[in-house]
Amino acid sequence: MKLLRIAGIKLALDENEEQLSQKAAAILVVSPSNIANCRIIKKAIDARRNKPPHFVYVVQLTVADDFPVPRDLPEGIQVRELEDQLPEPLFTGIFKPALPVVVAGSGPAGLFAAYVLAARGLPVVLLERGTAIEKRTKDVQAFWGKGILNPASNVLFGEGGAGTFSDGKLTSRSKNPYSFWVKKILVEMGAPQAILTDAKPHVGTDQLTKVVINLRNKLASMGCAIRFEAQITDFIVRQGRLAAVIVNEKEEIKTEQLVLAIGQSADDTYRKLQVSGVKMEAKPFAMGLRVEHPQELINSLQYGKWSGHPHLPPAEYFVTAAIPALNRSVYTFCMCPGGEVIGCSAFPGYVLTNGMSKSLRNGKFANSAIVVNVRVDDFALRGELLAGLEFRARWEKKAFEAGGSNYCAPVQRLTDFLEKKAADSAGPTSFRPGTKPAALDDVLPLFVAGALRAGIYEFNRKMPGFVTAEAQLIGVETRTSSPVRICRKGDGQSETVRGLYPCGEGSGYAGGIISSAMDGIKAAENLIANLA
Ligand SMILES: Cc1cc2nc3c(=O)[nH]c(=O)nc-3n(C[C@H](O)[C@H](O)[C@H](O)COP(=O)(O)OP(=O)(O)OC[C@H]3O[C@@H](n4cnc5c(N)ncnc54)[C@H](O)[C@@H]3O)c2cc1C
Repeated sequence: MKLLRIAGIKLALDENEEQLSQKAAAILVVSPSNIANCRIIKKAIDARRNKPPHFVYVVQLTVADDFPVPRDLPEGIQVRELEDQLPEPLFTGIFKPALPVVVAGSGPAGLFAAYVLAARGLPVVLLERGTAIEKRTKDVQAFWGKGILNPASNVLFGEGGAGTFSDGKLTSRSKNPYSFWVKKILVEMGAPQAILTDAKPHVGTDQLTKVVINLRNKLASMGCAIRFEAQITDFIVRQGRLAAVIVNEKEEIKTEQLVLAIGQSADDTYRKLQVSGVKMEAKPFAMGLRVEHPQELINSLQYGKWSGHPHLPPAEYFVTAAIPALNRSVYTFCMCPGGEVIGCSAFPGYVLTNGMSKSLRNGKFANSAIVVNVRVDDFALRGELLAGLEFRARWEKKAFEAGGSNYCAPVQRLTDFLEKKAADSAGPTSFRPGTKPAALDDVLPLFVAGALRAGIYEFNRKMPGFVTAEAQLIGVETRTSSPVRICRKGDGQSETVRGLYPCGEGSGYAGGIISSAMDGIKAAENLIANLA
């Protein structure tokens, strides 16, 4: 039998997926009995304005070996013969080092690096500075509910990493074939099957926490030792090679191999890496605000008269604007339909925002970051490596103060921000523990505020109705990507410390759940190749 993939099959909102194999047969000009094993590979929604929204599918099926693919295909349809199965990491045994391999950080990068290393039979110790999910969830609720911050256990630090309390969007622009394998493992750990086929897959916080617990148990069953509240506080480097790590300032763990998957928020660890001689460089990132609209409004802007159709999911958007006069670009980032804007402080005295949603995405608000690109020369004129950390901390501190110094966030009606109108009231938001009306110009660099205004007017041109007094802006959004890169060589090791494998978002080479997980896998494979 031969395997075919057909892309571009459309279904109207009221058609059902059982019709896909008939449509596939019609495209191939055969009777449905000549095709077998028809299954969905990808499902996307096409909701471009002024046309009825509809679904677009990629399906895979088998036909007889001598089946000739028709040359004349309907417009928008592509048919491709598949030769290879998707690649997966290799899991055969290898040479084992005498000392354990240490993985620092239990975010997507650390968890997937540990998975590949443990599955190859290596002795792995996974160290996580934060707490296990069960305790972490309580700490995060105390923060959102009462503004009580636990610096050791919060939205950024703890089991599962920064993405645990998130929308769990699993989109990635990377063509890396391991992205499917990562999603397959997540499904084995309890994520919904639909993430394997949805063009814009998402899991939701409620499901993610269960997936992370199952992944923890799976790692433990493969022999990986997992330790929570175990922060690497120092690195022992001898003659350019890693010799040990210090945990919680007292315990030494001898190791010559460390997968460093610490995320982008461990400012203290970045500083230790600097004094340990690990080569790093400043890198560009982006910052801005979160915007929140009523979800129904976004549905009607995106779906028009079809808004409210039971087969349509809560609408999303992605808008960009180039601002040549200011030499900046402005774009929406990490949009969460039916979600909540959340406080993400990890260290005391700072306010920073992000977004999350539950699996059903049935909240009454839609939120998204709106960010402006920040160049290295905006914060590191003399090339200071870690100046980006200080830069973002400065604005997060201003947001803390503008919010009332109690972890409430500063908020301003979108229309008041555009008109530079100070107002002592704003509309409702989902943000907990609360918000305080403020002039958001005070919590942003001048160039960011200016570019945001120009960008938001442009968004409204592209998506009329985006500017409304019903929308609120909440500040500040700073964690789009790391402002630091930990320089690595072609074989995955740090440029200056052998045995150190920086990966994931904190290395500056990845961003987002899927790309960080894939970068963790790459780090593990590099480590294994170098050991061999
Ligand atoms: C609220 C929120 C929502 C998000 N939503 C999405 C989304 O929907 N989709 C998406 O793709 N991305 C999302 N992201 C981004 C995504 O979470 C990150 O890109 C991803 O988690 C990065 O993975 P990582 O493993 O590199 O680092 P992290 O997930 O940050 O994990 C790093 C871990 O290392 C630990 N650590 C740090 N320092 C040390 C140390 N010295 N010793 C031991 N452990 C240490 C930390 O406690 C942390 O648990 C979101 C982020 C946030 C904050």
